[in-house]
Amino acid sequence: MRRKIVAGNWKMNGSKDLVQQLVGVICDHAVGLDSGVEVVIVPPAPYITLVQQQADGKLALGIQNVSQWQSGAYTGEVSADMAKDLGCWYVLVGHSERRQLFGENDEVVARKVGQVLESGLTAMLCVGETLEQREAGEAERVVAGQIKRGLAGVSADQWSRVVVAYEPVWAIGTGKTATAEDAQAMHAEIRSVLESMKAPSEEISVLYGGSVKADNAAALFSEPDIDGGLIGGASLKADEFISICRAFPAGS
Ligand code: PEP
Repeated sequence: MRRKIVAGNWKMNGSKDLVQQLVGVICDHAVGLDSGVEVVIVPPAPYITLVQQQADGKLALGIQNVSQWQSGAYTGEVSADMAKDLGCWYVLVGHSERRQLFGENDEVVARKVGQVLESGLTAMLCVGETLEQREAGEAERVVAGQIKRGLAGVSADQWSRVVVAYEPVWAIGTGKTATAEDAQAMHAEIRSVLESMKAPSEEISVLYGGSVKADNAAALFSEPDIDGGLIGGASLKADEFISICRAFPAGS
């Protein structure tokens, strides 16, 4: 079944104080618990345990990155099994910052997806085109390629642990966001790409990310193929994040 999900990607921001304040306020507002929305906090890895203690089962946890390898002499790496051990459910894979700043290509992304699924966690595969690619009319082709290559190794019994996040690169952290109509069109396209891969596309949550804020979330979340959001900057502001978690249409 498609789940409604709002995930807050804190990126490399935060501190012990911030965890206490932010997670405390989000939990006080019982965001999601009564509305069927799964609220996921994706803090920097060193704060995962603190977030977990503070959230006390009221929020789901994610990690921003894991290694493409299972274990061994890979100094500085964190494995998917370790993320599971810490209580994470979700792993971001293929975020555009990892692709652009750390040179992660679709092959690396596919290996990471494999590690995540092998460990029993859910992979949140991030895909999206740059502004140049959109202006050249290549957005659909680029996104379809990222999905096909990134998810090439997923087996029939693993699709229930795949989430896709469409994040146009030009919208991340820029204040520019896709219109709800443009985002919906790409989400419908993503579902047909998944269908072509024999995935149960109607059961896979497809999230939108890229400058989602309290004032644009409702329009995006009202679209039929948008199942929630991956939120960067606004997830560090309690009021904004809580409003986004509540932005789904009533009865949806
Ligand atoms: C992100 O980093 O995944 C993201 C969507 O960031 P922002 O909401 O700040 O654009």
